[in-house]
Amino acid sequence: MLHISSRMKWSAAIFSVMGFALLAVFAQDLPSRVDNGALLAARGEEWLTYGHDYAETHHSPLDRITASNVSRLGLAWSVEVGSQGLVEATPLISNGIIYGTTTWSKVFAINARTGETRWEWDPGIVRGGAPAGGPSICCGPINRGVALYGDKVYAGLLDGRQVALNAETGAVVWAVQTTPPGRDYSVSGAPRVVKGKVIIGNAGAEFGVRGYVTAYDAETGVRAWRFYTVPGNPADGFENEAMRRAAETWTGEWWKYGGGGTVWDGMAYDAEADLLYIGVGNGSPWNRNIRSPGGGDNLYLTSILAMRPDSGELVWHYQTSPGEDWDYTAVQPMILANLTIDGQERRVLMQAPKNGFFYVLDRITGKLISAEPYVEVTWAERIDTVTGRPVETPQARYGPEGAMLAPGPAGAHNWHPMSWNPGTGLVYIPGRLSRFFYSRPENFTYQPGRSNWGVPTGRGGNIAGVMSPAQEFVLAWDPVAQKERWRFSLAAGVPTAGGGFNMNAGTLSTAGNLVFSGDGRGLLYAFNAETGEKLWSFQLYPNIATPMTYELDGRQYVSVLSGNGSAASAPGRLYTFMLDGTASMPVVRR
Ligand code: CA
Repeated sequence: MLHISSRMKWSAAIFSVMGFALLAVFAQDLPSRVDNGALLAARGEEWLTYGHDYAETHHSPLDRITASNVSRLGLAWSVEVGSQGLVEATPLISNGIIYGTTTWSKVFAINARTGETRWEWDPGIVRGGAPAGGPSICCGPINRGVALYGDKVYAGLLDGRQVALNAETGAVVWAVQTTPPGRDYSVSGAPRVVKGKVIIGNAGAEFGVRGYVTAYDAETGVRAWRFYTVPGNPADGFENEAMRRAAETWTGEWWKYGGGGTVWDGMAYDAEADLLYIGVGNGSPWNRNIRSPGGGDNLYLTSILAMRPDSGELVWHYQTSPGEDWDYTAVQPMILANLTIDGQERRVLMQAPKNGFFYVLDRITGKLISAEPYVEVTWAERIDTVTGRPVETPQARYGPEGAMLAPGPAGAHNWHPMSWNPGTGLVYIPGRLSRFFYSRPENFTYQPGRSNWGVPTGRGGNIAGVMSPAQEFVLAWDPVAQKERWRFSLAAGVPTAGGGFNMNAGTLSTAGNLVFSGDGRGLLYAFNAETGEKLWSFQLYPNIATPMTYELDGRQYVSVLSGNGSAASAPGRLYTFMLDGTASMPVVRR
């Protein structure tokens, strides 16, 4: 499948004949050309897909910045890209151009050599601080980034569109509405491109929607397939056998509230097994008594699904919280790795979903290998490795009197990517302690356009005091032993304008024996990957997204988005660091 364009061959010829300086000049003028071979190789000089590679390791083989020289890391340049709202994207880089998204689904391309903006594309969603006539949104004008393929940049938008832009100019090549108009679906996740198809999910489970994932032809935008994660009304017929089987695990008239199960974040791809993995979200509403009053597992909520990327056919599923009652999404980022467990080489999928357990699955069969809590967990005693199901505690199915449970809906781990260093054998989880007072309401009325949790708020002080992250940390986890190796506690985040709290950043692992992450107060850190010793820190602004790293002209850089545009922070900005960088922090315009 390796495809090298004639222009790339031309630049390679220039490189060999005329040397490095000329390549640098010409490379700036070449459009991005990302092919299947480059995505599969994931060599490290570039960061071509959300998780660096299809295994979503967020780990770079680059090792010029190391534990022994990271103290010299300084700012190379920074450029403002955001407005009011959180920046969450992991930027990508191809051919010397950094691509990313910022608030209100704006897409940017920045010359990595100069820090100058090459183009910006504004989809025009914001009108007086809300999507114009668009969907209700849960979490502000967020977006986690783009995908690159061929000569195009792909982004999912807050208003439910999926677009392909010309990487050279930012001009729209195609755009499709990937959600039903007039419904409260939005898109905040980064698309992935697998075998020439753009894979995109959506969000909105609290607003009463039915989750699904869709694949589009990367060149034309023509829909290739769509897979729903929960069954619709059986009277309408089932789309496929997977939906028929799933409907046997639901009761009552679940379709009236959509069912939930949105696919808003984690994906991964194993090219050898030809399996695409997606994570599925919580039920709509959270409270199963309302959604499915006769009980049931409610497939495929809170599940990891393995599918064929060509057809969307379901191959296996693993459900993390059967009969979901707590907003325990399994959309969290997943990592594929090969581990030696009990003397056997296992091809595994690892996930730390909201529910507080760290799961290691056989990614070919979907069978559970092990699962252990990585944080305080009170809803389940353990995960039974024979059945693969949780052994719930007596209070887990909270009654009208309610129960304080851990984790809460904020999750022990949320969208912030974890990373995996095959050298240390450790997963670096951006996690938190969280608790929440769950109780059953006396009655429930579905409210269109509003969050429908089916769990009363304001009882037991359950929102402001308890849902906020009490304590955040970077946790180094040994997935073979299922044991903690080190933990670095982070300062609590500062409040955001929207009433929430800034959370910790995603993690980046590098072969320089480093882990990068950040706290809710805007400190960016580098840790020793083996010991957790803090080696370096740099004050950015509250709300740090996820760092990535790349190499350009023989030098390694680290880039990260930071800011939220509030009075206590700064507008979103892309910060790029290098050894001996001397640029100063910008004067902030508020
Ligand atoms: Ca949710």
